[in-house]
Amino acid sequence: MDLSVIIPCYNEEESISELHKRVLSSCENADIKTFEIIFINDGSTDNTLKILQELHKLDPHIVIIDLSRNHGQQLALSAGLHHATGDYIFLLDADLQDPPELLQPMLDKARTGVDVVYGKRKERKGETWLKLATSKLFYKTLSFLSDTDIPENVGDFRLITKRVKDHVVSMPEQHRYVRGMISWVGFTQEEFLYERDARFAGETKWSFGKLLHFSVDAISSFSIRPLRISLLFAFIGCIIAAGLAMYAIYGYYFKNPISGWASLATIITFFSSLQLICIGVIGEYVGRAYMQGKNRPLFIIRDIYETNSKN
Ligand code: UDP
Ligand code: MG
Repeated sequence: MDLSVIIPCYNEEESISELHKRVLSSCENADIKTFEIIFINDGSTDNTLKILQELHKLDPHIVIIDLSRNHGQQLALSAGLHHATGDYIFLLDADLQDPPELLQPMLDKARTGVDVVYGKRKERKGETWLKLATSKLFYKTLSFLSDTDIPENVGDFRLITKRVKDHVVSMPEQHRYVRGMISWVGFTQEEFLYERDARFAGETKWSFGKLLHFSVDAISSFSIRPLRISLLFAFIGCIIAAGLAMYAIYGYYFKNPISGWASLATIITFFSSLQLICIGVIGEYVGRAYMQGKNRPLFIIRDIYETNSKN
């Protein structure tokens, strides 16, 4: 197999047919012989699966991995990676924000010996300012907190070689941040500048809660720096506390004893919240160790639809 295209789909009924048409023609026009298009149905509640099954009857290149429930985009991508057999793997969103037609130029670049060709967005069309601002904040925080260099304005849209895929698949972590994991693998990685389109149809499938969860996963799976930051907080807190204590002693002997409870209450709440922050950060990592310790499978597959006589 020369190429596997991986597309996670969650309630994308409006985009699927158009998506399939464009992906299929990009693959047919590209300089490859055999390919598969893997759609991962991430527990969609609309007609996504039905449409996929219809398309599957017509096009033997299609493989459908139907997950048992909604696992989230990162796990859906992981399911696709596990199943991909191509020498090159093309990661794509279902909403046509990333043009499938870039397959050929990205393939050309990969063939010059680049293991990861990642799409870097020049500008974003059809995104709200809130989304742009939060995404900026997210990348700034991430690059400040994490040890691995994770490029900004880069999504999961990319073309990777089989060996990179194999390494990512061999990483057992439960909390997955796929683009970060790909960065971490190394080899030669180069950017590919492109313009991102607006969503073809439907709404973004990321709620604020999901995005927050994703950000915490991204940061904590790549760094233990937040743990150290909590130590720094504690250290600064100690210094402030020592200063306050000295001031209280000074006041006791040389001024009237401090009478206000308000200042006291402020100090107590301030330090308790510092402690809670530290405990929270530690808890986040302990929780992760716990989840990892359970060693559950990453995702559950309900069914796989594929045509055996793939060409
Ligand atoms: N997606 C998924 N599971 C989810 C959420 C999203 O498989 O729980 C898929 C979705 O169908 C799309 C891709 O992940 O193909 C990116 O989602 P979306 O376009 O909503 O994200 P955005 O582009 O807004 O970051
Ligand atoms: Mg999108």
